Amino acid sequence: MCMMETDTTTTPIEIQPRRGRPQSVYDFSLAELIEWMAAQGYPAFRARQLFRWLYHNLAAEYDEITVLPIGLRELLQRELPLPAIEPVHEVHTDDDETVKVVYRTRDGLTLETVLMFYSDRATICVSCQVGCAVGCSFCATGMGGLQRNLTAGEMVAQIVDIARRSREAGRPLTNLVMMGMGEPFHNYAATMKMIGIINDSEGMHFGARRITISTSGVVPFINKLADEPYQVNLAISIHAGNDELRSRLVPINERWPLSELIGAVRRYIDKTGRRVSFEYALMSTVNDTDEDARQLASVLRGLRCHVNVIPYNPTPAAPYARPSVETINRFTSIVEAAGIPATVRYSRGVEISAACGQLRAEHAELSV
Ligand code: SAH
Ligand code: SF4
Repeated sequence: MCMMETDTTTTPIEIQPRRGRPQSVYDFSLAELIEWMAAQGYPAFRARQLFRWLYHNLAAEYDEITVLPIGLRELLQRELPLPAIEPVHEVHTDDDETVKVVYRTRDGLTLETVLMFYSDRATICVSCQVGCAVGCSFCATGMGGLQRNLTAGEMVAQIVDIARRSREAGRPLTNLVMMGMGEPFHNYAATMKMIGIINDSEGMHFGARRITISTSGVVPFINKLADEPYQVNLAISIHAGNDELRSRLVPINERWPLSELIGAVRRYIDKTGRRVSFEYALMSTVNDTDEDARQLASVLRGLRCHVNVIPYNPTPAAPYARPSVETINRFTSIVEAAGIPATVRYSRGVEISAACGQLRAEHAELSV
């Protein structure tokens, strides 16, 4: 897993699944489903029924959708078979408050999704790619480069399956974070399409304000997100307050250095009026000094923002460690004292490798 590779010249092979044809029923917006039904000779209300059963009732199989004629159910199973991705493994923490599910795609790749229960909410952590091309030096996901983007349907399928588990536990899903495997802004169109599908009021009606997209800093898409109709939350993985260090940790910083990143965030805030969060994975002796805290605060001065200090989750092959609690608290108070609201956030599921950036750690054994 995680190692020091920061080679930005690697061109990952991107295997796009069956371009031009939707992979599964979860790739369809309601409008597209209506069109599909029309092409098969069915009226629009059939598409609405199907959409409602898939996303409101969370049907796992077409046969559960008994309001649809049996001939249509058979056609759907033939043309758009379920399941779209298959759960192959799941791991729970001892208290059952965090669950990690490993799924297999139709072309045999594995991806991971995490469900976290809290007293007042249930949050899903969604993956948008298998692997990641950004290659942050501390992140398990980025280590093998990118295998491929997930389709919108493969993201929606994670959400539907996890929503079903969450509902069965009597604690329905309330929040969604794009903090699983991959860089959402390297798979922008599919990510937006997924949001459109789960946000649709005739289906799941998942509120955009309960969705957070986390990015390593792909500037053009920060600008683009500001123009979208959805009121989603934006989180920026900053991890350093100077370019030299940030480029070592997050190689994409060489392409879009801090000045450009912060400029884009400022425009985003001005345009949307929303507060942005910054994630800072705190690593012992790497980015945890008082000076690091002061630099971070100075870079963020004047922005409507909040810093989440994430004590680093060590991964076996990585040369990074989590600082002491004392260092974590001191770092956070320096940022706060400089006028930037900051909170320490411990990742969930560390013992099952379900914490931020740890996804994929055990893939070798699981991807049979
Ligand atoms: N690619 C996106 C979203 C996925 S990673 C991004 O980088 O923002 C979600 C968060 O976990 C990011 O802030 C990432 O930098 C952080 N992260 C990765 N590995 C980590 C680790 N081992 N410990 C703590 N945070 C980590
Ligand atoms: Fe990719 Fe995010 Fe991991 Fe960086 S931290 S390698 S951007 S998943």
